[in-house]
Amino acid sequence: MTEKMMRIDWALETNTGRVRDQNEDSAIVREDLALAVLCDGMGGHLAGEVASRIGVTTYVETLTAGASDRSVLARMVEAVRAANAAIHVAAHQDVEHAGMGCTLVALDLTGSRASYVSVGDSRLYRLRDGALAQITEDHTRLRLMAQLGITLEPGEARMLRGVLTRALGTNPAIAVDYGDVGTRTGDIWLLCSDGLTDELQDGPIRDILKAAIDAREAARTCVTAALEAGGRDNVTVVVARVLEVDSGAPDEEIAPPRTDEAP
Ligand code: CA
Repeated sequence: MTEKMMRIDWALETNTGRVRDQNEDSAIVREDLALAVLCDGMGGHLAGEVASRIGVTTYVETLTAGASDRSVLARMVEAVRAANAAIHVAAHQDVEHAGMGCTLVALDLTGSRASYVSVGDSRLYRLRDGALAQITEDHTRLRLMAQLGITLEPGEARMLRGVLTRALGTNPAIAVDYGDVGTRTGDIWLLCSDGLTDELQDGPIRDILKAAIDAREAARTCVTAALEAGGRDNVTVVVARVLEVDSGAPDEEIAPPRTDEAP
């Protein structure tokens, strides 16, 4: 890696929650590489756990395997494709794992930019100057309906919120969202599974990130608040506080994610 590293305060916190028996979320933070990845698994009987673990490990292994002259974003998209293929193959090798899959959201903070990839409904947020912005888009049936202008009953909305329109492992080909935006000292980045965002609105999440003295406290308080709000799902958060960055990025509008369609 030739880019200069910035100084970042990282924290990872995960909890099974108050209802589920297993934690099907997986996440890895590699402080040495200034990157993090989070997957939320799905599938019966431990399969979701298997899928999310394959997702995060294959992603990191692919990113770190050998040198590459390709851009950070191109390598990240490639790593998501490798994770998708690995889960898809594993799902077909064992009948107990049939149909398993997971979401994936990953962040790379090398240079002075935040690069990300996303499939599913695990989210990336940025807190800057007290304002919280969701950077990724949810790949859910609920959001699709909203885009089509279809109005739903609250009960229907709740149901469709959890139905993914895209996930790793369920199909050999996958469309991957990606993008990047400048970062600067003081920014706080948050990766999370829907176990956080189904329990907490953006307002309380923003307030927790603003009040925390460091990444560890921010991550712990997010998880505690999700548990107190019900803890109906596994909850996983990764927090990255940018302590120092070489060149302060100028204000730049956050663009919607671009999509790398299935090849
Ligand atoms: Ca979940």
